[in-house]
Amino acid sequence: MDFTWSEEEKSVFSEFEKLCRERIEPRAEQLDRNPSLELIKDNLNILAQFGYLGAPLPEKYGGGGMRWTAYFTMSEYLAKACASTHLSALAHTLLCANFIAMFGTEEQKRKYLPDLAKGRKIGALCATEPSCGSDLGALKTKAERIKGGKYVLSGTKAYVTNGPIADLFIVLARVPVDNSNSKKHEGITAFIVERDSRGLSVGNPYDKLGVRGSPTSDLYLDGVEVLAENIVGGVEGDGFKQVMRVFDIGRVGLAVFSLGIVSACLEECIRYSKERYAFGKPIAAYEEVNFKIVDMQITVDMGRSIILKSAWMHDMGLEDAGLLASCAKLFVAERATKNASDALQIFGGLGYIKGTKVERLYRDVKLGEIGEGTNEIQRRVIFKRLMKQYGYL
Ligand SMILES: Cc1cc2nc3c(=O)[nH]c(=O)nc-3n(C[C@H](O)[C@H](O)[C@H](O)COP(=O)(O)OP(=O)(O)OC[C@H]3O[C@@H](n4cnc5c(N)ncnc54)[C@H](O)[C@@H]3O)c2cc1C
Repeated sequence: MDFTWSEEEKSVFSEFEKLCRERIEPRAEQLDRNPSLELIKDNLNILAQFGYLGAPLPEKYGGGGMRWTAYFTMSEYLAKACASTHLSALAHTLLCANFIAMFGTEEQKRKYLPDLAKGRKIGALCATEPSCGSDLGALKTKAERIKGGKYVLSGTKAYVTNGPIADLFIVLARVPVDNSNSKKHEGITAFIVERDSRGLSVGNPYDKLGVRGSPTSDLYLDGVEVLAENIVGGVEGDGFKQVMRVFDIGRVGLAVFSLGIVSACLEECIRYSKERYAFGKPIAAYEEVNFKIVDMQITVDMGRSIILKSAWMHDMGLEDAGLLASCAKLFVAERATKNASDALQIFGGLGYIKGTKVERLYRDVKLGEIGEGTNEIQRRVIFKRLMKQYGYL
């Protein structure tokens, strides 16, 4: 494994770090307090102008062709600056555009990727439903074949990141399977659905605990007609397998989300522990404070290492890349939740007050343990993959 960066990559990292620090971070507090669709769209536009939204997508379709190791290194700056903006960019690039880049037909890539890569269209992935998230195989949204090579989609999707601002949705729906012995995820198919489709509507943004600036909503499909050519990859029934592979890379993105938050906590705590005095000394003089800060540093170092290795495995196309992605997401998210709680503790009463940065980070961080498969589901995924590796499945 070689994580040395080219001069060009180094220069992109430093420009991107500056952009996140100067233009995204100063808006993070406002986005959290008064979530605004205009503001998050503007942030995404800033990232698009820089080339970040399309950075890992193939150059042939307007992307930057960046390797995953470099892309996730950049992403940490964004997650550190504003977790909400990072989450919306992740859903756009990794869950929607990359879905099409990985599995779309040549025509779908040519039609949709250039706009997604340049941020002219915003994307979302609609997998979860009100009655199922972890158990995606139980999804109820229906896709019925009708005449003229079309399908009619009906159902409700829940927790759609970017729902209120997206132009393009990848919707997982169930096409009836003519086989009574079929497994429950057979028939699940991914459709590309455009926002202006008749019968499609989007709910109001949820009022959330954290990542409040990243708009999340329901998506309602009431007899939405979609052409067969909008099935991702063109084959009915491939949706479940496809989305699991998409999550393999998306989970690295969510590990970076948690990492960036810890990195921000660390910086805040180092500063505050030198400024705040108790019993005649800065609180940095007390071991109980120091050890919490050290634990944050360990998460940052170990998290970065596991994320880079996992990204490198994706770059190399190695089979176990997904297994390490689950490990990375689980490991960093669990530690990050504890680290953010410690950060709030270091700030004492001030940490409990709105407007203190660690208070926001403490709320934002929890999503890392829920999105793209909860901690419990990650452990199941890891165990299943291990059993497979050892030849028991
Ligand atoms: C802010 C936010 C953004 C999101 N963005 C998106 C998005 O863009 N697209 C999308 O499709 N979804 C999105 N989600 C949904 C997210 O992926 C789901 O919430 C998550 O997968 C968990 O599903 P659930 O909420 O239905 O929980 P459930 O599946 O109902 O789980 C409830 C609890 O039971 C546990 N549990 C369930 N099954 C098992 C089991 N077999 N063994 C042990 N424990 C189990 C879970 O770990 C959890 O603790 C988002 C969620 C949030 C909060």
